[in-house]
Amino acid sequence: MTNRIPFNVIKKKAAKLLSNCDIDLASVDVTNRDEIAIDLKKIADSHSIRIEYHDFSDNISGVFFKKNNKLFLGVNSNHHEVRQRFTIAHEIGHHVLHTDDILHHDDEKMHFRADRIQSSEETEANFFAAEILMPAALIEKCVENDIVYVNELASCFNVSPQAMKYRLTNLGYL
Ligand SMILES: [Zn+2]
Repeated sequence: MTNRIPFNVIKKKAAKLLSNCDIDLASVDVTNRDEIAIDLKKIADSHSIRIEYHDFSDNISGVFFKKNNKLFLGVNSNHHEVRQRFTIAHEIGHHVLHTDDILHHDDEKMHFRADRIQSSEETEANFFAAEILMPAALIEKCVENDIVYVNELASCFNVSPQAMKYRLTNLGYL
């Protein structure tokens, strides 16, 4: 069992990732709702992670692996887009937070995200995913601009209402 990464460290790493990928939260105009959802493709591209969609069995959301020095992120093609986005953000979280795993296991499937959350790594990757998909500063901006309902926020951020509700609770809005 590895030591857990403190949430404030994960928070900083997520913020740094967004700014490194030229995602400037301050410049997002939330009155244009199409601008709000975080562009995960941009993040993946900037890390040379290739996203692929596969017909996995339903209990597998995504896999992350390294092959011939290239990074691959496999997503379940049968899942709803909001779930796929959470999976992608979660796997990027593993990549950023748990890099050693990848370095130590070349040419193997690194990670299977099944439905059951078992380890602290899973909790950390989920927290990271929430930070990049639903940045607190962007939620605050939406709220200031009267985008306040859970379903409305979820659709703006292109996440599930459940994920948004959980996030809003964690941030103290609910
Ligand atoms: Zn995971």
